[in-house]
Amino acid sequence: MKKRKLKKEPFILLGIILFCFLALLLIFALFKHYTSYEYKLGKIGYDDAEIAYIVKLDKKYIDYALKKYDRFLIPLTKQKYLIWSKYDDYLAYIKKTYKSNSINYKDVIAKVNTKTNYDFYTHTLETDMDKGYGILVNKYYYLPDKYEPKDIVSMSNSYAYPNNSIKEKVYEAFKEMSKKAKEDGITLIVNSSYRDYNSQKRIYEQYEDKKGQKYADSVAARPNFSEHQTGLALDIFTPGAGMKNFEGTDAFKWLSKNAYKYGFILRYPKDKESITGYDYEAWHYRYLGKDLATKVFNSGLTFDEYYAYYLDK
Ligand SMILES: [Zn+2]
Repeated sequence: MKKRKLKKEPFILLGIILFCFLALLLIFALFKHYTSYEYKLGKIGYDDAEIAYIVKLDKKYIDYALKKYDRFLIPLTKQKYLIWSKYDDYLAYIKKTYKSNSINYKDVIAKVNTKTNYDFYTHTLETDMDKGYGILVNKYYYLPDKYEPKDIVSMSNSYAYPNNSIKEKVYEAFKEMSKKAKEDGITLIVNSSYRDYNSQKRIYEQYEDKKGQKYADSVAARPNFSEHQTGLALDIFTPGAGMKNFEGTDAFKWLSKNAYKYGFILRYPKDKESITGYDYEAWHYRYLGKDLATKVFNSGLTFDEYYAYYLDK
């Protein structure tokens, strides 16, 4: 009897250990399930496909999703240029703008990032002058009052119509570009360039006196809000072509293909009026330096969008 008992004990002990182990495993599995993102997101109302997508996102998006059901989260996070700190603004813009379900998310991102979800000349900020050639000046970002750039030099008649001047570095870049264009049989000529605060003010006020602020805003920039005041913008034409027909010229085609190589970008492209705040201007080029101009060109974004996503840090 004594011998048999001794034989049984180790098995009982083993059984108990095994049972405890399995019980622990079960508790652990249950705990893991009920605390998993999948379970919690499902509880909140996300379906399986949504959950599978969300759990692969950055933790900040998961944390957000865990707080509430938001049907805009997935389509918005699929947008390359989403800026998380502006997320509430995207939602507010969607709510205000779209009454149906067909939402242009790309446009939502572009509008909010560039502040064009707000009326022009509202929510304005003094621009960050530390950005150098990459400063942003538009209807939301203005120059320090009466800003005057340094190194303004006058342009010779071989490159510009009379009375044009520009920042020296921009002039050098334009000359280099102009010479290269010439080799391809293209003549570039600058029609308008640096405009100081007072002349921009005069231009704007003439329109304003004639037809009021709304009209003036539609045809001219307010002083301190004009890119021409930076000394980094040029209106480039070719002899015999003006605003109406410049787009159809070989000079325009050449610039569209090559300007970025010399540091210039087309600043107000076609079909981007609602983002840039300006009508399409085939002739208005902005100097950014070769490196930045190449990046902006390759991104396919307007400078306003590029700045919001990549430079406004
Ligand atoms: Zn211009």
